[in-house]
Amino acid sequence: MRIIIAEDDVLLADGLARALRQSGYIVDWVKDGRQADGWLAGQNYDLAILDLGLPGLEGSEILQRLRSRKQRLPVLVLSAREGLEDRVRLLDLGADDYLVKPVALSELEARIRALIRRGRAVPEPELVLGKLVLDTNGKRAWLGDTSLDLSAREWAALEYLATRANRIVSKEQIMETLYSWDDEITPNAVEKFISRLRVKLEPADVVIRTVRGLGYYLEKPGDRG
Ligand code: CA
Repeated sequence: MRIIIAEDDVLLADGLARALRQSGYIVDWVKDGRQADGWLAGQNYDLAILDLGLPGLEGSEILQRLRSRKQRLPVLVLSAREGLEDRVRLLDLGADDYLVKPVALSELEARIRALIRRGRAVPEPELVLGKLVLDTNGKRAWLGDTSLDLSAREWAALEYLATRANRIVSKEQIMETLYSWDDEITPNAVEKFISRLRVKLEPADVVIRTVRGLGYYLEKPGDRG
């Protein structure tokens, strides 16, 4: 799950980005409105958090452009203004939710979870792969009663592969899922991730196959013959 935060309040954005990353989301943070518009046009996000008062381009304009491109990702707007008219206008422009500053991180996170649940790209709350159970809300993988120790990115890669079990995904797709703007991912890094994941998945008897020149797929445990 990949989230973009467009917010020029450094303190708020930093706290929010940190909390979301800890919860296992891939987060891109941008302070400038024009840049936010460019990133949204060029990347696939699962959710956008938009501040209204942004340098470069207003949040409402970003939202308008996003919807006119027919991008349907859920958008949560943050605003310092509390007018009813503002709120109605934003919802009409296609915002899915609206929070007035100052916001409590816990409330913001709860709203984000709700929006992601409602959104299209939501995986099943529980994915069962043989002995392995993925709790996609809690972002944890369980082997019986034991939770697997996975980094946020290992989790993201595993979730991506597991929701597409038996389908080949390319290295580039995995890179795009794991990439965040302040931290580059190389094809080499993906290979390392996958091999680390393989080791961690071994006790669960879940296998990630390499298809030379094409990518990887996670083999559904029941389908092995
Ligand atoms: Ca602002």
